[in-house]
Amino acid sequence: MATTQPDRSPRVANREQRFQPAEVSNYEIVSHYFTTAADRLGLQDDVRAVMSSSYREVQVQVPVRQADGRIHVYSGYRVQHNGARGPYKGGVRYHPDVDLDEIRALAQLMSWKTAVVNIPFGGAKGGVNCDPSQLQGDEVQQITRSFIDKIEKVLGPTRDIPAPDVNTNAQVMAWMMDEYGKLHGHTPAIVTGKPISLGGSYGREAATGRGIVLCFREAAPHLGLTPPDTRAVVLGFGNVGSWAACILQDLGAKIIGISDVSGAIHHEAGIDCHALREHLRHGGRLDDFDDVEPISPDELLALDCDVLIPAALGGMIHAGNADLIRARLIIEGANSPTTPRADEILSEKDIEIVPDVLANAGGVIVSYYEWVQNLQHFTWDEREVNDRLGTRMRKAYREVRSRSTKDDVPMRVAAFELGIERVVDVARTRGYI
Ligand code: NAD
Repeated sequence: MATTQPDRSPRVANREQRFQPAEVSNYEIVSHYFTTAADRLGLQDDVRAVMSSSYREVQVQVPVRQADGRIHVYSGYRVQHNGARGPYKGGVRYHPDVDLDEIRALAQLMSWKTAVVNIPFGGAKGGVNCDPSQLQGDEVQQITRSFIDKIEKVLGPTRDIPAPDVNTNAQVMAWMMDEYGKLHGHTPAIVTGKPISLGGSYGREAATGRGIVLCFREAAPHLGLTPPDTRAVVLGFGNVGSWAACILQDLGAKIIGISDVSGAIHHEAGIDCHALREHLRHGGRLDDFDDVEPISPDELLALDCDVLIPAALGGMIHAGNADLIRARLIIEGANSPTTPRADEILSEKDIEIVPDVLANAGGVIVSYYEWVQNLQHFTWDEREVNDRLGTRMRKAYREVRSRSTKDDVPMRVAAFELGIERVVDVARTRGYI
């Protein structure tokens, strides 16, 4: 068995207003879970070497002329981890902490995720190390177009298909599609998560959040929970967190705590998530929303609740704060939110975890449907998209759950094993390994 990676986060109360990620990198987190599953599968060293490294890593300069007339050079990355099961697929994030190691880890995670939910894609990820909150005028558009110009040679509807992730959205995807189209002609299937008017799919924006709620509905009966008697806490209120919260609230659950990069809030009777989303959309802050009590990130984690949905960045549940958690179920909306040491602590506390590679796969599933619709020049209505999403998520959940029960391992181990096994199997059949 692999040894647990050291988690160097201090065990002290966190008085900062935003969550402090662990000092364990996303790469260390993903490598640890990969190694645990690869050991259990008895993967040979040569196969392991292929599966744990990237097929291709591209790093490019992204020069942008700022509002003050000076040029700033950002770094852009696209990592293609494994394409045995189909074209590379994965989001692009804009965040100051983006570096090659992080994108490498997230690309690998995508390979296992697309395999766990059995869609015909490989795994990739991209990013630019910019801070969108500091950008002005059309700088986000310039960064997007410049980045696509630099990496277009490794993209294509049958090669590699980007999508939204942290700080990127449908508008950014529209610019990507437009820039790629200048070089290759009109190609809607080059990105997913586009605006509906440009070939985006109904249901894509909500899909990751909806997938999280589908996992909740599968897990809830085992814990004796029904939506109306469920109290949830959501860490991160962007695309994934806000949709998960709103859909859960629509089922009757109370969302009693929410956080974003600016801080955290609590309201025991339940926060109106739809109204909060509107409030934020119109420039409001989390802590000036009606009737809520501002709390610290540690107090948020310590709330007495049934479900915790981490939906911000990686490493936010770590050795320094895992012990505070009182939820019975954690559904990982974010990628690699839980460090290996935190995973052990939560397991000792008997807290069930639905892992990222299953829980947040709703987005890539509907991205797959968007790509299929684009290739067919055809549009499905929202009900059809959501029905197909539900069928695929439930099947994947039950496959992972039954493997976890049969082998008496956590769902994370079962999911990683399933994903790795499927990729290795196809790579062997193709003669790649
Ligand atoms: P987003 O940019 O829309 O939202 C991110 C949220 O996290 C924001 O509310 C932000 O304020 C919050 N946040 C950032 N730093 C924080 C901090 N230090 N403390 C507390 N909150 C903080 O991004 P998203 O698309 O919702 O992605 C969130 C997570 O879900 C990421 O890990 C992403 O990789 C993963 N994910 C996204 C999708 C998707 O379809 N967008 C799919 C699968 C997984």
